[in-house]
Amino acid sequence: MEQTLLDYFLALVQIDSESKQEGAIARRLTEDLKALGAQVRFDSAHEQFGGEVGNLYASFDGIAGCEPILFAAHLDTVRPGRGVKPQVKDGFVVTDGATILGADDKSGIAQAVWAVKELKEAGEPHAPIELMFTVSEETGLLGAVHADYSLIRSKLAYALDSHVVGQFMTQAPTQYNIDYTVKGRASHAGVEPEKGINAIQIAAVGIAAMKLGRIDESTTCNIGNVEGGIATNVVPPVISVKGEVRGHDIERIQSAINAMNTAMEQAVAAMPGAVLEKRVYSKYASFTVADDEPVVLLAMRASKAAGCEPKTFRGGGGSDANIFNQKGIRTIVAGTGMDNVHTVEERISVAQLEKGCRWVKEVIRMHTNG
Ligand SMILES: [Zn+2]
Repeated sequence: MEQTLLDYFLALVQIDSESKQEGAIARRLTEDLKALGAQVRFDSAHEQFGGEVGNLYASFDGIAGCEPILFAAHLDTVRPGRGVKPQVKDGFVVTDGATILGADDKSGIAQAVWAVKELKEAGEPHAPIELMFTVSEETGLLGAVHADYSLIRSKLAYALDSHVVGQFMTQAPTQYNIDYTVKGRASHAGVEPEKGINAIQIAAVGIAAMKLGRIDESTTCNIGNVEGGIATNVVPPVISVKGEVRGHDIERIQSAINAMNTAMEQAVAAMPGAVLEKRVYSKYASFTVADDEPVVLLAMRASKAAGCEPKTFRGGGGSDANIFNQKGIRTIVAGTGMDNVHTVEERISVAQLEKGCRWVKEVIRMHTNG
């Protein structure tokens, strides 16, 4: 392994791992984790969605009778994530502007592995430690959804997958997806347009009537993808419109979904012969972990020891933590220092990278010593 955490992080971000292509990074981590004395296993989650490899589970034996503790991160990155060329500039790791950095979530992976490495090298006794590195998180939490939770013994966990070190997302929303298919009728646009029903125009009327964006302080709506049409000389017979509603309050979410549906239904009803098909489905459940629960108290104490200003906050997005909580593993999302994620301006400060590693070590120490 590399000489410093920074070098280790730089090595990891240079291993391509866009969603469903996590084989290479999984091989590298297997080597590193085994060298540190872990038992490494994989599940077959990837067979459900066509990935290269399943979720990685590493377990380190610890003091007998101590409860194990879990740190999780995801192996995959968003695009463009191939051929990352990291540079260190003014205390930040940045990219050359052509790709994302992949600090989301390789900062979390590096911090967890490096913390264990340092504890091992120092010969510090510790509670049993579990690491879980999931696949295809960025494409709908697929790895976590299909994971084999019988391989996890921990009852509390930290997903290292948020921004500022010492800050913890303890509430996350639920998300509903809405897929509309508007069906009209094709005809030649120049010869007999009267026979056609323009699906694009109907959908446009429906979308225009929707209230999108921030609906109230806890609910957001979006139409994010529209596909349809054949050529300029064909009245478009069908269009697909995809959107989402996310929030923390199920009644508000439901009323936002109803409002979007009504807008689209009225647009379709105004055009005789047009047909609407819709599908509304939930991707993950919300979670709320109270500030006085052990998993939060431990995180806050470790933050102070690591020199951070601890804070909890309500997040706007889903992550593996939503699924872990659903599976009965009390999980909050911890900051790693990643910044400007999902853009080519993604970066992380070297100081935050190191602080995050210190935080992981402090959590393990405090968990071990009770
Ligand atoms: Zn992430």
